[in-house]
Amino acid sequence: MNLKEEVVKSLRLQQEQFGDELYTELHLPKFEKKEHSAPEKIFVPPAQPQKTVAAPKLTGPQYPSPEVVASSASLDELRGNICNCLKCSLGPLRKNFVFGEGNPNARVMVIGEGPGADEDLQGKPFVGRAGQLLTDILKAIKFSREDVFIANIVKCRPPANRTPFDSEIHECRPYLIRQIELIKPSFILCLGSTAVQAMLERKGTLGSFRKKVFDIHGAQMMVTFHPAALLRNPGWKRDTWEDVQAFRKLYDDKFPS
Ligand code: URA
Repeated sequence: MNLKEEVVKSLRLQQEQFGDELYTELHLPKFEKKEHSAPEKIFVPPAQPQKTVAAPKLTGPQYPSPEVVASSASLDELRGNICNCLKCSLGPLRKNFVFGEGNPNARVMVIGEGPGADEDLQGKPFVGRAGQLLTDILKAIKFSREDVFIANIVKCRPPANRTPFDSEIHECRPYLIRQIELIKPSFILCLGSTAVQAMLERKGTLGSFRKKVFDIHGAQMMVTFHPAALLRNPGWKRDTWEDVQAFRKLYDDKFPS
């Protein structure tokens, strides 16, 4: 478009707005009002109120809230509050909820991974072959099962004894933490890497956690091999013996007989 055309175009725009009067001398071609066709109608649906789909808040005995867990004032009350839990997918699969058992005022807590078939059947921790070996290990360092409190990271049996998923550990961990708060042990012995990782909320190999003492929830915590792993690898018995002797020494230093 040359300059003249641009000027005419601009004047025409003004002419459209203000009429012919100013421009008669310019002999602009007479402005013809265009019949404007009706503007295209675009249907804009009214804005819907934003529906944020909040997850339904599941309540009741099958979904114990953090408040219910924290306000459980005794082990029996805690057991009653959590034993119908269905917060993770292990709940519907269980035959029995395995709360744990032992001395409610124990100085020592022993923490395993999760119930196996025997434990699921009986509702008690470490009653199968691995349990018998645990009893022997405890005896070797002068503890009886009645002295200590034995619990697991997850309270329901994972199918085919698989390692519990992080999500299952996450749902169940508060129950164990409340058990520890109520029992107030001075010492915790973790069995296997799943237990120690869950307690520390940190990933790592068993080797990276062995021979260390962790201060946690007011207790001193050590880890050794899981008895089920020892049954499969008897070569690890010597290392286990060293671990549990170190654990016993920690105990004797605090509570000399
Ligand atoms: N293994 C565990 O970790 N816990 C049990 O109770 C039994 C076997």
